[in-house]
Amino acid sequence: MDRFIRTTVEKHLPVNAHFDLTYRCNERCIHCYLDHEDYGEMTTAEVRSVLDQLAEAGTLFLAFSGGEIFLRKDLFELLAYARKLHFDISLKTNALLVNEERAAQLRTLGVRRVQISIYSSDPAVHDAITQVPGSLARSLDAIPLLRRQGLQVKLACPLMRQNLLGYREVMNLAETLGVPYVLDLTITPMMNGDRGTLALRNRGKELLAVLTDAKLNTHSTAGCNEGGRTAGTGSLGSTTSSGLEGEQTYEDIPCSAGHNSVYISPYGDVFPCVQLVMPASNLRRHSFADIWYGSGAMRRVRAVREHQLPDCAKCSIRSYCERCPGLAVMEGGDLLGAYERACELAELHARLAGIANPISAFHVRIRQAARGIASSRLTVTDRQSA
Ligand code: SF4
Ligand code: SF4
Repeated sequence: MDRFIRTTVEKHLPVNAHFDLTYRCNERCIHCYLDHEDYGEMTTAEVRSVLDQLAEAGTLFLAFSGGEIFLRKDLFELLAYARKLHFDISLKTNALLVNEERAAQLRTLGVRRVQISIYSSDPAVHDAITQVPGSLARSLDAIPLLRRQGLQVKLACPLMRQNLLGYREVMNLAETLGVPYVLDLTITPMMNGDRGTLALRNRGKELLAVLTDAKLNTHSTAGCNEGGRTAGTGSLGSTTSSGLEGEQTYEDIPCSAGHNSVYISPYGDVFPCVQLVMPASNLRRHSFADIWYGSGAMRRVRAVREHQLPDCAKCSIRSYCERCPGLAVMEGGDLLGAYERACELAELHARLAGIANPISAFHVRIRQAARGIASSRLTVTDRQSA
């Protein structure tokens, strides 16, 4: 752990905040984990108060995301306020509503970086995923506008069954545009627990081409690996997490969630991470400091140590695994548990690294349990026939 990360973890400084300003969206991406209804977003005054509290608590890096942030009519007012508080600001957007004037305003307000979701270089594929005809052309049009203003632009491409085959074209597109990119293999259940989106995931073996692509990193042990390990301008990583970017390791701590990273929803709910949906409390009822330092959920997440994880601590392929505590909760129902997707990918990574017949501790346990059940059935049958 480098010194900065160590200090922020030891002092519980929420240096990195992912703040979704709205869940409303002008696209309807088929893999999206959000409910786009507005159930009572925080007002401008409420958001400003949250920003004050984040600044007070030590937040430095602020990612405004959604939903689609440009649907917030007060976006520029909030950006101006956030800059007054000296946050380093990045935005996540589909960029459909970015025009020349707005790009210039972002520059004036001191936004540093904009991440834009691009699913394919083929309009038919991209627009089928967003369910908005013409959306690829509009998203791509925004990129030169933003770059001309000197903003850093990054393409983010979640990979699913619909667009996996075209991942190389997305890389080529990013390189032609002169911007970095991140490919994300993570398709999550919806925040409300609906698991329908998981049908869009590629099976492990289908990912072989991506995982062995020399232009991309192959795997990381750094939790969600937001931003990924870069090889050239491209990486595999997370397009959504609240984790600090870059090649960070957290030693015996699973990841940054709840240690130095926090997520805030448009309704004021506070989670350790957008993918770790353990509501810690709500900013309409409690102060940020009370929630961050005092809530049971934050304390519970902070208490987890890797060496105590029942399966993972004894797993022989742990170093090939990118287990996410959030997905462990969403997919396996257990903050401390292993889950099928992580094990599947870790076994694949290990095999690609030359390990013969790699099996995760989770799968070893399941197989042993299955053998135990089979042998006890046999014993019963033997007794019955004796
Ligand atoms: S909970 Fe998952 S997505 Fe969030 S920071 Fe941790 S590893 Fe990354
Ligand atoms: S491969 Fe599975 S059992 Fe092993 S560390 Fe990863 S999640 Fe845990």
